[in-house]
Amino acid sequence: AAAAATKAAAAPAPKQHARPLILGPDGKPCRSCNSFAAFTSQSKALQAKTGTATEPVAARGPPADCPADVETLGRSSWTLLHTIAAQYPETPSAGQQSDIKQFMGLFSRLYPCWVCAEDFQAYLRRDPVRAGSRGEFGKWLCDAHNDVNKKLGKPIFDCGLWEQRWRTGWKD
Ligand code: FAD
Repeated sequence: AAAAATKAAAAPAPKQHARPLILGPDGKPCRSCNSFAAFTSQSKALQAKTGTATEPVAARGPPADCPADVETLGRSSWTLLHTIAAQYPETPSAGQQSDIKQFMGLFSRLYPCWVCAEDFQAYLRRDPVRAGSRGEFGKWLCDAHNDVNKKLGKPIFDCGLWEQRWRTGWKD
């Protein structure tokens, strides 16, 4: 299904954005599945408005009052998830453990970038949520985030530092 729903948009893309745009269920380019740069570089409307010089627009990232692209959505979502981990109890009750597992399951099904969501659901099947303590959940989430980092070619984060990054602040 992923392969079928992914195809090049009609407009020829500049070389640096040669990857085809990911389409949504409606067959239109999916804003929350593509970067703003990729989206604008293939947007006929924007190209018509600004001539061929879409790169400076794209390089600035999406304006704050525009729909989220895959990167803005991702950054905000990781902030929410890691901050939930930071506030998660050190010794959670059975109910709290059940809540976080249900939340992560629902999150993975509702995540607005459908390609990201499919991969995250597969990750949850391979490595189900561990939430017996704050430390355990924070480490599980850090590993899950690193799995996406690896897929995208981003640096792997040192999970020994997740609490400093998301809960206590950096040690001086
Ligand atoms: P982000 O990866 O958003 O990270 C934000 C900050 O978190 C970093 O600056 C760093 O300080 C910290 N950090 C980084 N790694 C870790 C870690 N392992 N543990 C704790 N803190 C960390 N994008 C795609 O293009 N394709 C996908 O398939 C995709 N899947 C995603 C799945 C999920 C569930 C989520 C939430 C996002 C997904 N994204 C995906 C978005 C992607 O992960 C990034 O959020 C986006 O590319 C922006 O990256 P960024 O470099 O700003 O940093």
